[in-house]
Amino acid sequence: MPRKALRDTRRIMATIAANIQQVRARIGAACAAAQRPVQSVTLLVVSKTFGAGAVREAVAAGETCFGENYVQEAVDKIGALADLRDRIEWHLIGPLQSNKTRIVAERFDWVHSVDRLKTAQRLSEHRPAHLPPLQMCLQVNISGEASKSGVAPQQLPALARAVASLPRLRLRGLMAIPEPAEALEAQRMPHAALRRLMQRLQADGLLLDTLSMGMTADLEAAILEGATIVRVGTAIFGSRAAVSG
Ligand SMILES: *Cc1c(COP(=O)(O)O)cnc(C)c1O
Repeated sequence: MPRKALRDTRRIMATIAANIQQVRARIGAACAAAQRPVQSVTLLVVSKTFGAGAVREAVAAGETCFGENYVQEAVDKIGALADLRDRIEWHLIGPLQSNKTRIVAERFDWVHSVDRLKTAQRLSEHRPAHLPPLQMCLQVNISGEASKSGVAPQQLPALARAVASLPRLRLRGLMAIPEPAEALEAQRMPHAALRRLMQRLQADGLLLDTLSMGMTADLEAAILEGATIVRVGTAIFGSRAAVSG
């Protein structure tokens, strides 16, 4: 490798590792404020639009859980990182079309973005027998915007019961992408609403343990309201707009 390229690579590596350290510090401080053990929150590193090399750097810095939005991009990346397959948990967090359910059921460990029974049924049908059940969250449209994906809160209980009964899936909890808000108090409201929805399902007898909520801008609010998985991209890899154009 030419010397300048090597220098640039080293600089990017150092940056990713330092950014991860900062995000881990934010998670630690938020857990302390919420009086929660830091191990109760999983950092899902969102690597969409960034290459396999960036994922390798994050793995070298100790990370093991990665989130992807676009199925084809993710499948290519999972292939390029096949040597690390046993050390990485791959999570699909982006919209899932029904013609992609087979490859997703074959390649991923988790899917956070299911909002229709049909999709869950197909994932269950296609989950290979030699793999453990596909771990799943239902995406909830918590801010009530017509354009966003996610099941409406009113339809959630029926969907959750139906999905929980599918054989090759394990329903773990709920996921949401709330409308952005500036103030901490405003950020907490939708996260609290998602937590209450999960508590209601638990009271109805579903064994759920996962709240996938909180991103770069609002992970503190999410942790204060009980997030168990925070999905962080920008704070680790930098701005996607500058990279993907
Ligand atoms: C891109 C994305 C993230 C990460 O968002 P950042 O603001 O970059 O941390 C988290 N969750 C979902 C569903 C995403 O699409």
